[in-house]
Amino acid sequence: MSDCVFCKIVAGQLPSKKVFETDRLLAFEDINPKAPTHILLVPKKHVVNLADGSADPALLGELVAASAEVARQRGVTDYRLVTNTGAEAGQLVFHLHFHLLAGRRMGWPPG
Ligand code: 5GP
Ligand code: ZN
Repeated sequence: MSDCVFCKIVAGQLPSKKVFETDRLLAFEDINPKAPTHILLVPKKHVVNLADGSADPALLGELVAASAEVARQRGVTDYRLVTNTGAEAGQLVFHLHFHLLAGRRMGWPPG
C-alpha cells in the first residue's frame, strides 16, 4: 500500500533499525519505544490486522516464531507479545504488527 508507513519501511523507502528478516517478515526497532526492548514484527505483505482475512495461519506462526527468535538473540526471557486490532484496541498503524516488549515490569491488565 503506497501510503502505509510499514510498507514503506519494508520497501526501504523509510529508514528503520532492522533486527531480523526473512523472505516474508521484518523485525525492527519501534521509533518510540515503550520499554527498553520494543521491537515490531511485520509481514512484508500488507495485512491490516488479525481481523483481516489475508493474515494466513502460517504467516502468523512465522511472526510469533520470529518474535521468540528475536527474544532469544537479545537474551530476553521475560517479554510481552501483543498486537492491537482496531482503533479501540489502540491500533494506530493499520499494517499488522506484533510488539515485542521487554526490560521492565509490565502491568496487567493493560490500560
Ligand atoms: P499500534 O498503536 O498501531 O499498535 O503501534 C504502532 C507502533 O508503530 C507505535 O509503537 C509507534 O511508535 C510505531 N511507529 C509508528 N511509525 C513508525 C515509524 O515510522 N518507524 C518505526 N520504527 N516505528 C513506528
Ligand atoms: Zn502496509
